Order: sequence, then structure tokens, then C-alpha cells
Amino acid sequence: MHAVATISQSALTHNLNVVRTQAPHAKIICMVKANAYGHHLDLIKPLLQCDLLAVSELSEARTLRQYTALPILLLSGVFNEHDLNEAIELDCHLVLHDLSQLSIIGNSKQPITVWLKVDTGMHRLGLSSSELSICLEQINSHSNIRVECIMSHFSCADEPENTNNLKQLNYFNQIKVDGINRSIANSAAILSLPQSHFEYVRPGIMLYGVSPFSTVDEKLQPVMELSAPIMSVKSIDKGDSVGYGSSWTAKQNTKIAIIGIGYGDGYPRHAKNGTPILINNTLYPLIGRVSMDLICVNIGDLNASVGDKAILWGHDKLHVETVAKHSNTIGYELLTSVSSRVDFIAHD
Ligand SMILES: *Cc1c(COP(=O)(O)O)cnc(C)c1O
Repeated sequence: MHAVATISQSALTHNLNVVRTQAPHAKIICMVKANAYGHHLDLIKPLLQCDLLAVSELSEARTLRQYTALPILLLSGVFNEHDLNEAIELDCHLVLHDLSQLSIIGNSKQPITVWLKVDTGMHRLGLSSSELSICLEQINSHSNIRVECIMSHFSCADEPENTNNLKQLNYFNQIKVDGINRSIANSAAILSLPQSHFEYVRPGIMLYGVSPFSTVDEKLQPVMELSAPIMSVKSIDKGDSVGYGSSWTAKQNTKIAIIGIGYGDGYPRHAKNGTPILINNTLYPLIGRVSMDLICVNIGDLNASVGDKAILWGHDKLHVETVAKHSNTIGYELLTSVSSRVDFIAHD
């Protein structure tokens, strides 16, 4: 009796095809950072049918290299010679987002492919346009360094109406260097801003079947189904309280199911009373506080048994976006927080 995350291989294939349909002329970089948004790098084989894969850190590139021969884009780039050598060995393309990284790369005699990241308004990582010029000039004098692409990142693409998107895109459009590709589109821009697709698109969350916007996208299929078994069913009386802090009290006699999952598995502790949980194809409300190992559900007069399956998210009737809303967070955080106590299984 254990919480289980099943990873749907057909949903991964479907969602990657949605990217292809939305951006038919662009090459696709599947974003598989944070252990493939919590889906586990060993269980996302259908995503390896793309042009390039991207991770944040060298340790992730090391793991990913066990499963694919595709080039890996290292989003953090490298900060010392040791990491540079390992990144080259792992056949990584290196993002260069800070001028300090130039001297490390510049000292090497090995062939290196770099992606220059420019700041178009997010003011997180990225070179200014004058720093970009410095980079391009210096790289010109190193025949071993090849610039594959100039990239940038949107700060507000999840709000299609936000004027910052077109501001950033206008700025990015002005940066044009002959023979060098460009890339700025994340999932939200792939779905809502076709003029931002350029030569490479960088889908992340949509590959996992989750909308980057505040509403569910019916084109996408949820990839991770998180479920846990009912551990106990009991009847309680009007006036009885449930769970830590006795924060929920029954307004009438009812039955409750105790489910074997909690924040120790990655179910959000901040999920509010009323967060839906799917049992026997019907939604029932979470009651009381989420504990480390258990949650309680008001099942009314449902005839449920110990061992029956409760689905926490990843179903047509219960999207992770909905649970995120009830927990004041986003689907990205819930997916990447499922803990190592949960069994992960690939599923057709
Ligand atoms: C994570 C990431 C993406 C993907 O973003 P989604 O919103 O998940 O599509 C794209 N580009 C960069 C640089 C990222 O770090």
C-alpha cells in the first residue's frame, strides 16, 4: 500500500506532437530539468525524439547522458575549468549568460558549442546587448568556439495579454546576427505567440500535459497520474473533528476515507479544505489538515473499501492545475515536489 506516480508514455508522445503542430518550422528542445519536471529522466523516453534536450545543472546532464545520445543544452553554463571539461565530455552545448564565463570557455582549445543568453527584460540571467557584442567579438577570435544560437526568456508569457511579452519580443527581434539561430519561446509562447517561435522552441510544462496558463488546455494530456490507496474508512458523527488541529468539523453524520499520501510524498500541505480527490470516478473534498503520511476525504455515503484507489491528480476529471489552485501554487511546483517515497512507474 503505497502512493504511485504512473508516467503515461502515450501522453508524452501526444504532447510532443502538439508542440510539433504548434511550431511546425522550429526545432524542438525538450526541457527536462529538475528530473523532467519531477517525472524521472528514466521514464520519459518519448521526449528523447526531439532535436536537443535541456537541463539546468551538470549533475542532471550526467544522469541524462545515460539515456540519450542527443546533444544536451546546459542552461547554467559552466563556471570553472573542471566543469567545462566534464560538460565537453558529456557533449553539452553551453549557455553563456554572464561575461565571467567567457574567460573559462576562452581558455579551452577544445571544440565548444555555445548559446548566448541575452536579457530582454526579465533581468534574471542574460547578457546586455553591449555585453553580447563583446562576446561575439571575442568568440570570433577563437576558431574552436561556435555560436549555435542566441536565446532569451519571457518573464510574463503565462499572461498572454501582458504588454511585456511584445516588448521583450521587439527587443529580441532587433538582435539579429547572420548565421546564428534564435530561441525565446517557452510553452506559453509556443501556444500563444507564434511570431516568437524562431528556429528553436523550448517546451517544458506542456510536454507534461499541464497548461502554462491559469486554465486547463484540452489539447494536452496529463502525463503523471498520482494515486494512493484508501487505508481506512470510517463513519463519523455530526460535530466530530478530523485531523491535526481539529480544523474541520462534520456538519452532519458522514463517512470519511483516510488516504495513504501526505506532504512527505509531495502532496501539498497547503491544500485547502475542499480540494477535490477522485475516488470511484467521483470527486470528493479533502477535509482537515494534510499530514505527513495521510489525508482525509469526506466520501458521504460512498461504498468505498480499504485498498480502493484515490487519484490526487493527472486525470481528465482532476488536473494538477486544479489542485495547484486550491494550494496557492502552480502545477510546476506540485510536479517537481513528488518525493522519492512515491513509486514511479512507466505506463503505456
Ligand atoms: C524551464 C525553461 C523553459 C520551459 O518553460 P515552460 O514554462 O515549462 O515551458 C524554457 N526556457 C528556459 C530557459 C527554461 O529555464
